[in-house]
Amino acid sequence: MSGLFGIVSSRNCSETLLYGTDYHSHMGTEKAGMVIMGEDIHRRIHDIRTSQFKSKFAAEYKTMTGRLGIGVISDRDPQPILISTHFGEFAIATMGRIANSSQLIAELHSQGVAFSEIDEGRINNTELVARMIAMGKNPQDGISRAIERIEGSCSLLLLTRGSLYAARDNLGRSPLVLASNGGDWAVCTETCALSNLGFQVERDLAPGEIVRIEPDGVHAMRPGFPGLQICAFLWIYTGYPASRYQGISVEAVRQRCGRRLARADSVEADLVAGVPDSGTGHAIGYSMESGIPYQRPLVKYTPGYGRSYTPPSQEIRDLVAEMKLLPIREVIEGKRIVLCEDSIVRGTQLKNLTVQKLWENQAREIHIRPACPPLLFPCKFLRSTRNINELAARKAIAALESRPSGDVQAYLDETSPKYAAMVEWIQQDLNVTTLRYQRLDDMVAAIGLPREQLCLYCWNGEG
Ligand code: SF4
Repeated sequence: MSGLFGIVSSRNCSETLLYGTDYHSHMGTEKAGMVIMGEDIHRRIHDIRTSQFKSKFAAEYKTMTGRLGIGVISDRDPQPILISTHFGEFAIATMGRIANSSQLIAELHSQGVAFSEIDEGRINNTELVARMIAMGKNPQDGISRAIERIEGSCSLLLLTRGSLYAARDNLGRSPLVLASNGGDWAVCTETCALSNLGFQVERDLAPGEIVRIEPDGVHAMRPGFPGLQICAFLWIYTGYPASRYQGISVEAVRQRCGRRLARADSVEADLVAGVPDSGTGHAIGYSMESGIPYQRPLVKYTPGYGRSYTPPSQEIRDLVAEMKLLPIREVIEGKRIVLCEDSIVRGTQLKNLTVQKLWENQAREIHIRPACPPLLFPCKFLRSTRNINELAARKAIAALESRPSGDVQAYLDETSPKYAAMVEWIQQDLNVTTLRYQRLDDMVAAIGLPREQLCLYCWNGEG
């Protein structure tokens, strides 16, 4: 997805910026960057595919000085972008997905605008947003105009010599939170970045809201809109357990998801486990509700494998995933295991690594309980690498319908025979004893926001 962190401080902000940005490392695996604007402009961008954020920036941040800064963990584009405009220089970092980027690029090209940040043959979307903003009368006008033209979603931080602008995307698909610490201000995607740095959450920005933050406080630039559609997947998988969105704790939602899975279940088992790490909160909730003990048949060997470490090819990624996950035979042998997973995307790692390791260590039964319904539609609002035909549920439908796309709508009704056939196909493909997905209504209830305030496109294709 990407994660943003910005700070306005009364002192040199470089160390806070380093750690605040680093606490977003779970949100992106490709590129990372920081900009500080002081007397000089300091910008650093690094590739983080083969090493962790801190290892790249830990020495460099000491050479960066200034009181205002922005940082980004990016899922694709090198950023922040620096640009000089008729209203001054600014640095900008964005998160989201611009669905109409080709059209917007063509429009700017026709007006004589050139792009310089070509990466892997592609125009950098953050540069596209920067060039659109540069056509405004001032930063606020430019941001408003740019965000109104973008289809998909785009939240951003924009840094000038004396101000930090923050804008949340029009439907609030991604979070953006304002926080304070004495006279210092921070704005970020993940609230888990705040407490260890001494910041208290002030409030979530509203969808489409723009603020300007300066040492004297936060200035309203544009009020927000009604019509929140925040990504539900943040609570299920993407977000960090210690974070909160719209004031709702990720870990608490995961435990409620697990409780609801248990309430809808009648399976007899010896232990409940989560696929580490994102299945853990769901499994704890399942265990608390069912009374079945929580145990760890599988643990992750994390020393040497940073959370943000993403090997360069699928082959090596699979190898690392296999090496990281360690089975504990004494916990597994002869046991009936309920295994909670955040979601089943392709299902290949679950099948080839997790399930296989449990069978190899003599599990008696394996019951998979994903915390969300089958994923049927790849994200079109926040960036995602999922290919529609790779999704386990799509593969099941294609196989059942004997054609690539199949009639997806018929499989959305959780009470229908077609839905049951799809789940049965995935269960057999995974080679597990039983498989039962969370119902959409239960997932929504576990999150606790009104349904119309959530993006549920991944599961129902609406939006
Ligand atoms: S489509 Fe899925 S991942 Fe994308 S914003 Fe909506 S819920 Fe989140």
